[in-house]
Amino acid sequence: MSSVLNRFLSYVQIDTQSDPQSTSFPSTEKQRDLSNQLVIELQELGIEDAHLDEHGYVYATIPANSEKSNIPVICFCSHVDTSPDVTGANVEPIVHQKWNGEDIILPDDPTQILKLSEHPDLKNQIGNDVVTASGTTLLGADNKAGVAEIMAAAEILVTDKRIKHGKIKILFTPDEEVGRGTEKVDLDKLGADYGYTVDGEAVGTMEDETFSADGVKITIHGVSTHPGYAIGKLENALKIAGEILAALPKNLSPEATEDKEGFIHPVHVEGIQEQAVLNFIIRDFTEFGLHEKETLLKEIMERVLLSYPNSKAEFKVTEQYRNMKEILDQHPQIIDNAMEAMKRSGLNPITRSIRGGTDGSRLSFMGLPCPNIFAGEHAFHSRLEWVSVQDMEKAVEVILNLAQVWEERS
Ligand SMILES: [Zn+2]
Repeated sequence: MSSVLNRFLSYVQIDTQSDPQSTSFPSTEKQRDLSNQLVIELQELGIEDAHLDEHGYVYATIPANSEKSNIPVICFCSHVDTSPDVTGANVEPIVHQKWNGEDIILPDDPTQILKLSEHPDLKNQIGNDVVTASGTTLLGADNKAGVAEIMAAAEILVTDKRIKHGKIKILFTPDEEVGRGTEKVDLDKLGADYGYTVDGEAVGTMEDETFSADGVKITIHGVSTHPGYAIGKLENALKIAGEILAALPKNLSPEATEDKEGFIHPVHVEGIQEQAVLNFIIRDFTEFGLHEKETLLKEIMERVLLSYPNSKAEFKVTEQYRNMKEILDQHPQIIDNAMEAMKRSGLNPITRSIRGGTDGSRLSFMGLPCPNIFAGEHAFHSRLEWVSVQDMEKAVEVILNLAQVWEERS
């Protein structure tokens, strides 16, 4: 069995689900079960400094074997946790060897059927070995495919002396799925110049662009009275909130936008007649687009308030994350080298944008420019999640090529 598959099957059977409600770090202690195993395996490979820190991050260094002293230090990064959306306990991975294109009915819940017609990327997998879960859990390919690929590549980098490379750093993070994966990372300790998260979808893809994101909180202060004696006085904050929501432009909503379009999206409402709070997320690929949408939302709020002369509202913008392209454009060699590495693996690389944020977008702004390369994961956060062994092997090859390309071009 290939090393990457072997590792993958072992990792997905360890429950590492993260928890958005938790305030501890990592959000669930069980994530350490996998992280501890990874440290032991890295040490068995002879990677002496591999360790798990108190926050649940795994750090490890593969020393350089090249004489060149100017090679940038490259980091490969994946997350160990799985999505809170679907259980990750008692995952039973199934390898569908030499898949012939027929529907895959998952045995523990026959209503879960993986069909070519609904998963177009499967068309490239006929004849490949496709791995799924058994129907009642997610698989955890997001992001244990990436973890297994980095581990399998590490094994080759420390044993195959023909592959020349600079210093390589490995980073496994907790809590990516609950948006806290970079919260306690120590980039000084990591000491890498550039990074790649290995957490993308189809083989040959690379994501160098994410949304830029803000949150907006509108707090409405109405005028409260006894409803029996409210005539001419009551200004109900709940109704003001409702009018603001009703006035949102329909074409700037998540359900009406795609590709490079941004949106204004209400995510939480609460209140009483005296006070109501509306929370929004604002998304766009440019800072300008974000500000445009925020201005529009503020104008809507002010317009609604004109009919409520004794009410007031506060409008507060909080920065969430920024499009990593802003940073990556300053270091074009990161994408160029990844393109070259993929071409050497016989792939036709394509760059894509993510309508969301990644740990990479946060890392990029924290000082570690970090696009996302494919891991082969598909249908993530669902019980139909799948990955193919051949795609995982390609990802290993790309990681090895990347290490070499950086060496050659330094
Ligand atoms: Zn992921």
